[in-house]
Amino acid sequence: MVNKDVVLIVEDSPAIGMLLKNYLEKLGYTQIHTCDNGSTAISTFTELVSQGKQPIVLLDFMLPDMDARSILTQMLEVKPDVRVILETATEKDDAGIKELIRLGVYQYLEKPIRFENLQSIFQTIEKEQDFFLKESEQQQIQKQEEKNQEQKFNEQIDFILKSTPQITLNKIAGIIDTDVDSVSKYLQQLENNGKITRTEDKKEIACNQCDSVRTSQIFYCPSCKSSNFKLGKLIEHYDCGNITEESTYEDDHCPNCKKEIKALGVDYRVMKNHYICNNCKEFFPEISVEYLCLKCENKFALEDARWKSSINYKVTSM
Ligand SMILES: [Zn+2]
Ligand SMILES: [Zn+2]
Ligand SMILES: [Zn+2]
Repeated sequence: MVNKDVVLIVEDSPAIGMLLKNYLEKLGYTQIHTCDNGSTAISTFTELVSQGKQPIVLLDFMLPDMDARSILTQMLEVKPDVRVILETATEKDDAGIKELIRLGVYQYLEKPIRFENLQSIFQTIEKEQDFFLKESEQQQIQKQEEKNQEQKFNEQIDFILKSTPQITLNKIAGIIDTDVDSVSKYLQQLENNGKITRTEDKKEIACNQCDSVRTSQIFYCPSCKSSNFKLGKLIEHYDCGNITEESTYEDDHCPNCKKEIKALGVDYRVMKNHYICNNCKEFFPEISVEYLCLKCENKFALEDARWKSSINYKVTSM
């Protein structure tokens, strides 16, 4: 429901003024001001505008004290988007009327005034206002959404920073899944408040497919590629050549030849820190590694990785 605006009738004939007022009341307008000359029209109009109102003006073309063109331009100076409806018995294509239309008259109302014509003009105004109102509501909603989004980002940034001693700008943006510009404003704010400090730029591995620095290392068995492995101790029994986990030598007996293992360095040796694959049972001093992009799930080797440099932040007091 649109709030009905204030209407200002500028009409020197009391009969027509009364007629217009009655018509407007029929259309639901209640705040109607009537002036019978130009100078009071200007002062009333200025007063209404200063009160924050948006008067719709019904202006008589022929007034005793002031030219309609002069009234129109003065009103436009006060409020450039004022809607002035010109009432006149003169033909629409009269030079004087044409000039007023060119100057910014909103509509033209023929005299003798007919209710249907007045109604149609005011209906158009209401539709326009309804449209603008909806548009500004839409803008409000959009603004609020942007604000919410920003707040969400900021909370996420806080959360990330609380969980790490240092992190790059690229990484933060990558985790939140947004661009660097969307997070840098808040980071600048945190920096100004002494919560984080900038250190030298840092290079990070980035996905060779999507450029994201949100990557994770994945380790796997060089033989069967399984990630099911453990780090353990192996014992090699020199006598029979058995190499298996320390735990398989129950009561110091070789699980292969069943002989007892006695002297370290003489009958057997311990191989510490070996990776033992739980899947294929093979063991390795080194495990294979590759990178997994957490954004696009691309897997790549270190030598195929891209490197990206960005601002690095040290968290001082989050
Ligand atoms: Zn990727
Ligand atoms: Zn394996
Ligand atoms: Zn043995």
